[in-house]
Amino acid sequence: MPLTEQQQAEIEAARAQRAETRRPTVPALEGLLYQPFQVLDHGFVRVIDYMGDDAAIVQAARVSYGRGTRRVSEDAGLIRYLMRHRHSTPFEMCEIKYHVKLPIFVARQWIRHRTANVNEYSARYSILDKEFYIPDPEHLAVQAATNRQGRGAAIEGEAAQRVLDLLRRDAENAYSGYAAMLNEDASGSPIDPARPGLARELARINLSLGFYTQWYWKTDLHNLMHFLSLRADPHAQYEIRAYAKVMLETLRRWVPMAHAAFLEYRMNAATISATGLAVIRRMIDGERIEQASSGLSAREWRELMALLGR
Ligand SMILES: Cc1cc2nc3c(=O)[nH]c(=O)nc-3n(C[C@H](O)[C@H](O)[C@H](O)COP(=O)(O)OP(=O)(O)OC[C@H]3O[C@@H](n4cnc5c(N)ncnc54)[C@H](O)[C@@H]3O)c2cc1C
Repeated sequence: MPLTEQQQAEIEAARAQRAETRRPTVPALEGLLYQPFQVLDHGFVRVIDYMGDDAAIVQAARVSYGRGTRRVSEDAGLIRYLMRHRHSTPFEMCEIKYHVKLPIFVARQWIRHRTANVNEYSARYSILDKEFYIPDPEHLAVQAATNRQGRGAAIEGEAAQRVLDLLRRDAENAYSGYAAMLNEDASGSPIDPARPGLARELARINLSLGFYTQWYWKTDLHNLMHFLSLRADPHAQYEIRAYAKVMLETLRRWVPMAHAAFLEYRMNAATISATGLAVIRRMIDGERIEQASSGLSAREWRELMALLGR
């Protein structure tokens, strides 16, 4: 994630600034504002701005006039209640804005979350940096046999090296073609004045999904937690999970009560079907149940047993 000196200086300048405000702030999040947290080989996440805190959720839920005088434990209890009963709008009162640098294939998964405001770096307007994602060798794996959307056993040794070499070679080739078509140096002057430079919006079309893009991504707390519940989940692809993991930590710093309730009732909780619940009741009553007599499909049975740690 090498930032240029100018980018680093801009971040430092932003971090050095202080603004007086009547609005409540969250010191734990203020402390990491603007700071980039590395994700994958060239990516990052940084918090650019936020609105609201745990108390704002409570305030909205009670439609109160001020910050209230109730005890912290009462606020935490209310937030847990709201989370448990799937109340959404009090959480929508808080907002957060991130700057994310991410490979295009991760961006394609991410952009499916429609309930955010996004502004992406324009490769029609600007030249993309020569930055592409090469997985760490430990993340190379074969296609999973059981889950079609996933990875199986690790690929190691010579086979892994071959994959890494191919990824690097193809990305290098794609970028050198891009640079040749653009025919521009860093100042925008032609490298070879005898040749026309292709428009940026066309020169980019051969770049592959591993190249990095960037965006500002703003969402509310309710939809952030929805995003994290799907993308920090083990079913999500490792690369987007890596981003979700960093964002989970920003959530913890920002709204610790909502974060704790989120882990309790969403992230580490489970949804059980009516038939699954009936199976659990029968088990508690001491009945010995097999999949065939459970009313669950083989897959549902496996999933329920995994949930119950059996
Ligand atoms: C593990 C995993 C695998 C996936 N695999 C695939 C795949 O193979 N192919 C594929 O195409 N996608 C895939 N997706 C993407 C997935 O189907 C969703 O598009 C994505 O997760 C965004 O979820 P969302 O719509 O709930 O989020 P958001 O767009 O943020 O929406 C949040 C909620 O708002 C509501 N909402 C938003 N927009 C509308 C609307 N227009 N109409 C009604 N309600 C709306 C819905 O309740 C929705 O749940 C996958 C996602 C995951 C996590």
